[in-house]
Amino acid sequence: MSVLTKNNLPVIQDVISMVQEKDAGQPEFFQAVKEVLSTLEPTVDKHPEFVKAKIYERIVVPDRVIMFRVPWVDDKGEVQVNRGFRVQFNNAIGPYKGGLRFHPSVNLGIIKFLGFEQVFKNSLTTLPMGGGKGGSDFDPKGKSDTEVMRFCQAFMRELYRHIGPDTDVPAGDIGVGGREIGYLYGYYKKIVNEHTAVLTGKALEYGGSLIRPEATGYGAVYFAAEMLATRKQDIKGKVAAVSASGNVAQYTIEKVNQLGGKVITLSDSNGTIVDEAGIDAEKLAFVLELKNVRRGRVQEYAHAFSGVTYYEGKSVWDVIKEQSLKIDLAFPSAHENEINSDYAQALVKNGCYCVSEGANMPSTLDAIKVYQENNVLYGPAKAANAGGVATSGLEMSQNSMRLSWSRKEVDGRLHEIMRNIHKACLDAAEYYGRPGDYLMGANIAGFVKVANAMLAYGIV
Ligand code: NAP
Repeated sequence: MSVLTKNNLPVIQDVISMVQEKDAGQPEFFQAVKEVLSTLEPTVDKHPEFVKAKIYERIVVPDRVIMFRVPWVDDKGEVQVNRGFRVQFNNAIGPYKGGLRFHPSVNLGIIKFLGFEQVFKNSLTTLPMGGGKGGSDFDPKGKSDTEVMRFCQAFMRELYRHIGPDTDVPAGDIGVGGREIGYLYGYYKKIVNEHTAVLTGKALEYGGSLIRPEATGYGAVYFAAEMLATRKQDIKGKVAAVSASGNVAQYTIEKVNQLGGKVITLSDSNGTIVDEAGIDAEKLAFVLELKNVRRGRVQEYAHAFSGVTYYEGKSVWDVIKEQSLKIDLAFPSAHENEINSDYAQALVKNGCYCVSEGANMPSTLDAIKVYQENNVLYGPAKAANAGGVATSGLEMSQNSMRLSWSRKEVDGRLHEIMRNIHKACLDAAEYYGRPGDYLMGANIAGFVKVANAMLAYGIV
């Protein structure tokens, strides 16, 4: 398959076709490439130098893919074997940076899609971070703490040789929270004999940053507020739907509450609760304890509080569609492709006019089309959820300087970064001919910086 046209110029469509052919069997990666590249068309005309240097062809191929065996012993003494991955996608503008995901659905294609997205997201933060992602098909759910510890140690036994504070700095993602980061970092420190900033999302006691746990959720709400402000609106008095009940969902709810809005949904992979009265601070404290300490199911929320309905086996988007639940704002915070075009249409029908993506790629390409056709303010993941990695960048800065900033200082910087990302998206969309198109703006703003750096290095 050639990526040259009759004019001897590479065409975006040809690169997309090349990925489809060469990376067959990786649908999420293909989807992410298609989503990004199809919005980069305007850069082709403005940057013939990118075309000549084959930046478009080069940027869809990771610098390096690491796959490894993770053998460990469960509580019954049986040997278990999982697959480990680290995709070091692009370090043109800084060390590889991106989370680790532990979930049974993890495979190479999913980690590649996440790593690819991370390249542009990290560029948007304005901090010097390249893109990477990793993880395993290990499922922490239902495992004892000691099993999780043994798995994390076995995972790090291989990963340690590929990472470093100036090489690659992983963090958390689905299934990797404070407990897992502790076990991973503790083992790294033990075998390398260095206390260095090789992971972010650490606890405060050993080098973590205030606001890092809150950052992705807070950032998604800050981004929504910026989008609403373009229509002279704000979060106050708005009704929001949030999916999932993990790290991103929890702090999305907290920030919506702080800004005077109301969140009425929560979910996990078993079902969804609707609480029309709103998930206030007291109820949120219950959720944090339920999910982060007891590791229970969201159904318990319906037993703990009155006036709550639990929908077994339904996602938040099913419930909005089937129960005609009226909402203003949506914060998908679970996983890729949770909103298809059907759900997107149901969102529009039920009054939703702003979607800010806390999760990575939660909307399918067809769902995005529905948002765009219906004038929904759409904050794409790589912009809207960049607050997490941005604050990881701030954690790295504090570690390098050997000091800790206050909560107010980190939150202030996070807020400023989200404002800047929002502005960068709008500016790029305007400059490249699609004013107000956040998707195109985010992709182009993230891409151009990385492309220029790649150009500067020559052919490497
Ligand atoms: P988390 O704390 O592990 O929580 C994940 C949540 O999503 C849980 O409520 C989980 O429910 C639900 N979920 C996961 N897979 C699901 C599935 N297949 N079906 C239904 N529910 C599912 O993870 P997180 O850090 O909040 O991450 C959530 C999303 O945000 C992911 O897309 C992640 O890539 C993205 N993200 C996270 C960060 C960050 O800083 N953490 C930054 C940027 C983007 P169960 O408990 O039932 O599995």
